[in-house]
Order: sequence, then C-alpha cells, then structure tokens
Amino acid sequence: MSLFVHKYGGTSMGSIERIKNVACRVAKWHRAGHQVVVVPSAMSGETNRLLSLAKELTPFPDARELDMIAATGEQVSSALLAIALQSVGISARSYAGWQVPIKTDSAYSKARIMSIDGEHILSDLKQGRVVVITGFQGVDQENNITTLGRGGSDTSAVAIAAALKADECLIYTDVNGVYTTDPRVVPEARCMPRVSFEEMLEMASLGSKVLQIRSVEFAGKYSVPTRVLSSLTDVNIPLDEEMHSGTLINFEENDNMEAAVVSGIAFSRDEAKITLIAVPDTPGIAHSILGPVAAANIEVDMILQNQSVAGCTDFSFTVNRSDFKRTLDLLENDVVPAVQAREISTDDKVAKVSIVGVGMRSHVGVASLMFKTLSQEGINIKMISTSEIKTSVIIDDKYMELAVRSLHKAFGLEHSSDTDSV
Ligand code: ADP
Ligand code: ASP
Ligand code: MG
Repeated sequence: MSLFVHKYGGTSMGSIERIKNVACRVAKWHRAGHQVVVVPSAMSGETNRLLSLAKELTPFPDARELDMIAATGEQVSSALLAIALQSVGISARSYAGWQVPIKTDSAYSKARIMSIDGEHILSDLKQGRVVVITGFQGVDQENNITTLGRGGSDTSAVAIAAALKADECLIYTDVNGVYTTDPRVVPEARCMPRVSFEEMLEMASLGSKVLQIRSVEFAGKYSVPTRVLSSLTDVNIPLDEEMHSGTLINFEENDNMEAAVVSGIAFSRDEAKITLIAVPDTPGIAHSILGPVAAANIEVDMILQNQSVAGCTDFSFTVNRSDFKRTLDLLENDVVPAVQAREISTDDKVAKVSIVGVGMRSHVGVASLMFKTLSQEGINIKMISTSEIKTSVIIDDKYMELAVRSLHKAFGLEHSSDTDSV
C-alpha cells in the first residue's frame, strides 16, 4: 500500500461531469489498495469570477477580504468532490485549509506555507477514507484565511505530499505532462517523460504555468517525487499505465552527455518595461531607484543600465504587467524627482521568451543561435538576461508566439514519433 497525493486543476474540476470523472479516477486508486489525498482547485474560471465580484465594488479591494472570497472556490469544489466520491461508494471527507491546519504567513494573495499538521489526515486515511483538502489556501497565526498565489493548488499538493511523506505527488492537469513548450502555442511541442528539477524550476519561474514555481521549490527542498499527467484520459486505463504516464521531475544529476542543449522554451506575456532616461550616473543610483520599488513589494525582473554618457545613464527594468501602474505612480511621484531623471519611457506591451537547458552549461553558441533566429524573423530584442542554464529576451509582445515557434524549430525540439500530443 502506498500513499499518493493527487491534485486536480480547474479544467479537471470544471463541471459536475468532470468532477464525477475525478471521483472515478480516485476510486480506482483507492480500490487498488492505495491511500489517497486529493487536492482540488476551484472549478475553472471560478477564482477569476470571485475576484471580479470584489472589483465591482472598488478597484483596490482589501487584501484580507479578497483572500476570504477567493478561498471559497476551492471549498465548493472540494465538498463536491467528497460527495461525488461518496456517491461511488468511497468513504471521503473534505477539509478547508484552516481545518488541517495548513499554517501560512500573513502575506495575503501570496502567502507562504509555514507548516502542515498531518495528524488528522493520517488518522482519516487509516480509517480507509479518501481525504480531500482544498488547494490554494491556508490560515495565518491570527486565524485569517490566506491564499498562496494564482496556481497555488500545485504548491498545496506538493507541500501536503511532503508533510505526509507521500510516495508520489501526481499533478493532474489538462495536458499530458510537461512539454518542450506550451502545446497550445506550438502544436509540435513534445511531452517529456522526464524533466530535470533544475530545468523545471527555471521553466516555472520563467512563465510556464503548468506548475506554480513554489510547488517545484517544495518538491526540490523535500525531495517529493512529483509527476505531471493528464486528467482527461480514459478513466479506465490500467492503473499501472496511468502511474507511469506524464512527466516525472527528475532530481538526479543529469550525466547524459547526449542530453539536449535546450530542453524547453518558456514565455510570459505579462511583462512591462520601464526606463528612466538620463539619470546621473553616481554611486547608489540603482538603490535609489529600485529601493522604493522593493519597499512597495513590487518584484523587479530584468535590469539594464546603459553606458554613461556625459555623466548620465539610462536605467531600465521590467516588472509584472499587473504592477506596472503602481510602479509608474511610485516612480513619477517619489523616485524621478529624487534622482533627477530627465524623463520616463515605458512599454507595457512586451513579453519575455526564454530558452532553458542544463546542456547550455557545456555548449557554446546557444545564445547566439537564439539571437540569429530572432533576427531572421525580424524580431527586435529589447533586453537580454542570462544565467547558467537559461537565456531570456524581452521583445514586443505581438511577436511572442512567432519567437517561440521559430526557436522551438531552431533548437530541434519538435514532435518525435514516440511521444505524446495534447
Ligand atoms: P491546471 O488548471 O490544471 O492547474 P494550468 O492551466 O495551471 O492547469 O496549467 C496547465 C497549462 O499550462 C496547459 O494547459 C498549457 O497550456 C500550459 N503550459 C505552459 N507551458 C507548458 C509546458 N511547457 N508544458 C505543458 N503545459 C504548459
Ligand atoms: N484556483 C486558484 C487559481 O485559479 C488556484 C489554482 O487553480 O491552483 O489560481
Ligand atoms: Mg495551474
């Protein structure tokens, strides 16, 4: 007997019919003698709907109340799933995050999990129950309900798997696994049977929303065997086949010399670029600009400082597009007068495209093939950043899909005969 944590995303839980399917799938695992904890997301579109209700009242609703509202989506889907399981003869119980409890810090809408008490869950499992736990939410020290950031049910599932020392955490979603890039953008993308932990971490942090980045961090920190697989396959496929399907995150060092130089392409449409023009090039200038931005809890991604001309420099950086307006207000009101920048130039229609691969460590010319490919398509690069296993560029967002498709081809990542399609 093994213990598995299953996570089902919004599409997988998207209708009563789909919830019935999830119940049948979970029942299959349970009847095979396994202990199963299920972590559902809210039904697809529900979290957006709930948050938009609050925004009809005011453009900037109180963060605590927003989390109270958003957390209800998972409560509904969890209880529906418990009822669906009971309807197929499985003893099941659902719990909200606070009932477990899943303790978090108090950073509303992006809370971090501090601890999970597995005692009640384990006791339910021992009594033969399937335990359903709401994804995406927890409770802080003062008993306020918190949420973990969009896509946070992935993190709930991996953290619960870590706390229970589960044999594997299975992230069921609406594609067959982790692909070389988003198969909705590149239909020729290839589903990878394995992906290295390092590459998965980079891909998640660079915008591949198939896994929330914190879930990958948890999987690494606690060595949780984690697999991404489809919830949309025939429920009756043999368990053994299902167990080995999808993509397994591989924690072992990749010693395969033949490993692809570039394993995947990630992208993010939600970027905005801000440039402070003609800032005096003096010590401490970066801190004077970015210090207030950090103090406002705004995350800065790429940073570029131009060469100094006549004692002045241009200073550019990117933020998430959702933080763009707030950042601009802050700069215009506080920073520009303080640092005496001549003007601000902005572009909130940029995207980030990244190539990722552990093979980049040992190969030269990878970034230059990227730049050549983009130039052949007439795509202008606005910013570049590199690390050991990735190169990212900022480009006009209207060219994003073209860039991803041509890079996918240039690095030979297309579909091969023995792999899955969406
Ligand atoms: P869920 O609701 O199950 O959490 P998400 O929408 O959060 O699902 O994540 C799954 C989606 O991630 C897929 O439908 C796909 O469009 C997208 N995606 C982006 N990059 C990748 C990738 N490299 N491999 C697979 N899916 C990807
Ligand atoms: N329901 C939440 C969201 O839409 C969490 C999740 O789906 O993982 O972001
Ligand atoms: Mg998701």
